[in-house]
Amino acid sequence: MTTVTTLADLQREAWQLTAHCRGRNCGSARRMDLAALIVRFGPDHVFINDQKIPPLLVCKRCGHRGGSLTINV
Ligand SMILES: [Zn+2]
Repeated sequence: MTTVTTLADLQREAWQLTAHCRGRNCGSARRMDLAALIVRFGPDHVFINDQKIPPLLVCKRCGHRGGSLTINV
């Protein structure tokens, strides 16, 4: 079984990260640009229980800051 814990693992497996807005009554979701995340945080950045990326997410619909990430296999 493959272990996928870092951004580079996601890219290797061609998995996608989706960011979900946690703003009230919004529920907006968008696909993250994995290549851009790797440039910014590095390929070895562990996304499981990550505390760096979610607070930086800003919703394009409602402007709420802070979201959650899910994986799309
Ligand atoms: Zn939103």
